[in-house]
This record gives sequence, C-alpha cells and structure tokens, in this order.
Amino acid sequence: MRTITLIVLHCSGTKTTTRYGVERCRADHLRRGWKDIGYHYYITRDGVVHDGRPLEQVGAHCKDHNQHSIGICYEGGLDACGNPCDTRTRAQRTSMRALLTRLHQQFPSAIIMGHRDLSPDLDGNGHVEPDEWLKQCPCFHAILDYEDLEPTDLLNGGN
Ligand SMILES: [Zn+2]
Repeated sequence: MRTITLIVLHCSGTKTTTRYGVERCRADHLRRGWKDIGYHYYITRDGVVHDGRPLEQVGAHCKDHNQHSIGICYEGGLDACGNPCDTRTRAQRTSMRALLTRLHQQFPSAIIMGHRDLSPDLDGNGHVEPDEWLKQCPCFHAILDYEDLEPTDLLNGGN
C-alpha cells in the first residue's frame, strides 16, 4: 500500500438538478485519456459510496498531491443556477462521514482537506484564503466539518 498523508474532498461540479452518476464521471475521465476514474470514491446523491480507482493506485484528482492522497468526490457542488454551493444531501453527509471515519482508522495520520485548501498560498502567510482558491471545490469547509477526525497528535502540537 502507498503512504497516505492526505484525504482530499471534491465535488463533481455539477448542478443539483443534473444527474451525474459514477459511470458518467468515469466515462468523462476515460475520455481525458486517464486509465480509470480519477477519484478513489464517488458518493452519489442517494448516499451510495461507489468504488473508484483502487486505493493502492495513485489517483488523478489534485495536481501535485496525487501521490500520497486519497480522492473522494460527491455528486453536486453547484446550485440550480450553477453557483458553488454545498449541495450535499443528508445521505451524502452521512456516508461521507462514515467513509472518512473508516479511512481515518486505516490511515490515522492522514489529514482531511478540501481541494480548494490545496491551492497555492500566494501571499505565503501559511493559510490558503478564499481569494487564493483556484476553484471552489468542494464548496464547503472540509477542514472545519471534519475537524474532529483530525489526527490527535496534530491537535496536540505534533509530538
Ligand atoms: Zn476538486
């Protein structure tokens, strides 16, 4: 198994009013010339967690961070007008938390972040602020939402 230091959350960037299932996502990624869907897990609006690329394989979901990460995507991320929005259904929230809890047990030192949190820190102040986000993905505050799942050694100052 690879070393996993990071779990990156994504949205599919599709409207709540549009169906965008795992097979369409996979087909779109294959069309880009990738060998498989870029994410390791894909959570559809009904809360079902679909297996994507096998965990032991490097994904294709976050430039410069694929090597040691797991990519999870939920279907949605845009409201009916196409604006970035946390569109996670109750079922998606429930299964995302269950999946993260399970992965956290398997990879206790992995940090959970949203795709946007990995944008370059342009002003170098140690924080990636909203005006530095390259994109809005996953359209919610992943670090805050799953703060309670963070590795405890980090919360205690990293010893
Ligand atoms: Zn993303």
